[in-house]
Amino acid sequence: MSTHTGTDVAEEAVDSQEDVESFRQRARAWLAESMPLLPEGYTNQQLSREDESGEEARRLQRILFDGGFAGLCFPVAYGGQGLSRAHQRAFTRESLPYRMPTVFNVPTFTILAATLLDFGTEEQKVRHIPAMLRGDELWVQFLSEPSGGSDLAGLVTRATRDGDVFVLNGSKIWSSGAFRSDYALCLARTDWRVPKHRGLTMFILKIHQPGVEVQQIKMSNRTAEFCQEFFDDVPIPVTDVVGEINDGWTVASRLLFHERNAVGGGSPFASGAVIAAAGQGGQRSELLELARATGQTGDPRVRQLVAEDRINERIQSQLIERVTTGIRTGAFPGPAGALPRLFAATNTERHVDIALEIAGADVGAWIDDDAPPLGEVYLNRQGSSLGGGSNEMQRNIISERVLGMPREYAADRDKPFDEVRHN
Ligand SMILES: Cc1cc2nc3c(=O)[nH]c(=O)nc-3n(C[C@H](O)[C@H](O)[C@H](O)COP(=O)(O)OP(=O)(O)OC[C@H]3O[C@@H](n4cnc5c(N)ncnc54)[C@H](O)[C@@H]3O)c2cc1C
Repeated sequence: MSTHTGTDVAEEAVDSQEDVESFRQRARAWLAESMPLLPEGYTNQQLSREDESGEEARRLQRILFDGGFAGLCFPVAYGGQGLSRAHQRAFTRESLPYRMPTVFNVPTFTILAATLLDFGTEEQKVRHIPAMLRGDELWVQFLSEPSGGSDLAGLVTRATRDGDVFVLNGSKIWSSGAFRSDYALCLARTDWRVPKHRGLTMFILKIHQPGVEVQQIKMSNRTAEFCQEFFDDVPIPVTDVVGEINDGWTVASRLLFHERNAVGGGSPFASGAVIAAAGQGGQRSELLELARATGQTGDPRVRQLVAEDRINERIQSQLIERVTTGIRTGAFPGPAGALPRLFAATNTERHVDIALEIAGADVGAWIDDDAPPLGEVYLNRQGSSLGGGSNEMQRNIISERVLGMPREYAADRDKPFDEVRHN
């Protein structure tokens, strides 16, 4: 695991900073004055789905930036506010009634900006991080390929050096929101004569340019968030290499660390309630409302299910706290981020299952635009167990790199990649 410290963020306010309580008061007043309220009954995640192009999110992010409330935990040198996690938590809590550009949280801020902070050159950081915080740049990750995502180091998209550029050819898939994004961190193979982990390089890739074709994939829940990209002789300047040439695996490992952290709810760079409500100051009251709406609050079975969900939420937020603190203090190794990531995924599945059980047969009805949202949510239920590495891969990480159990056998680990059978 890298020892880079670009993303170290203080837990509580330090001496030079405004104290959290006065920051909270200031944020409360500013939010009331500057940000639009969420319409009743809506969440930011629901509204994000309606803002397919991301234009509204960009506008809202710009308001935060101009008001001095964007990138609270990002360094001041790159357009952030240089504040602590406690400031960010206070702001997120205050922001819950308001429209927030949450689409910027994952992966732009929590994963890709975080990785750039760790490995980007000064020029790359100055060029891109303020632009992200201003709402000018949405980013996406180009990692998975049609031949498979779990064996990330086995990818076959190639970048071949030609003077001052690398020339990119191949295809990426399952890239969330690539069609509305501006840049990607893209992992490609730059040396085929060495074992798979040693011939990869991470690049900053401008998405909308000749040679890059982005196709949206239509899903059964009627969204088209996922994309597949095709690269045909795309030139990438050598100055857009992140980290060292042929050491992209180190950068990718750190990126995946940030992804586990983000998906598990432990990133300091998210603002506003994100994916999992737990740990972000959100309240999972919708199951109680569902029980009320269906007249089942007196049913012992339903009461038990609602309680189980509350307990899971509490465990999740405490697990995030414990593991985040443990990693920061060195009590846990970095890969321990797989613990809250795995719990968040299984908890999301259980939450949706419980909602389905309480809602009963109504959830199956599909009436065009008025379809009960739970039916759609159920179709997406498995997503959190795959995105950022599947549950099985998290279990492998926990067993091998947290518990120190023997590594999984891999016939191709030490073989030159061009001698390995692919697909
Ligand atoms: C919501 C969501 C968002 C995503 N966003 C992005 C994105 O923005 N960018 C991007 O690049 N990718 C993205 N992905 C893709 C994601 O990273 C891959 O789906 C994931 O890595 C698994 O790869 P795969 O789908 O090719 O499955 P495969 O790798 O083909 O695996 C298939 C099954 O085999 C199991 N398996 C594979 N290898 C092992 C092993 N060694 N031990 C035990 N079990 C194993 C897996 O757990 C899985 O159940 C996203 C996926 C989802 C669901």
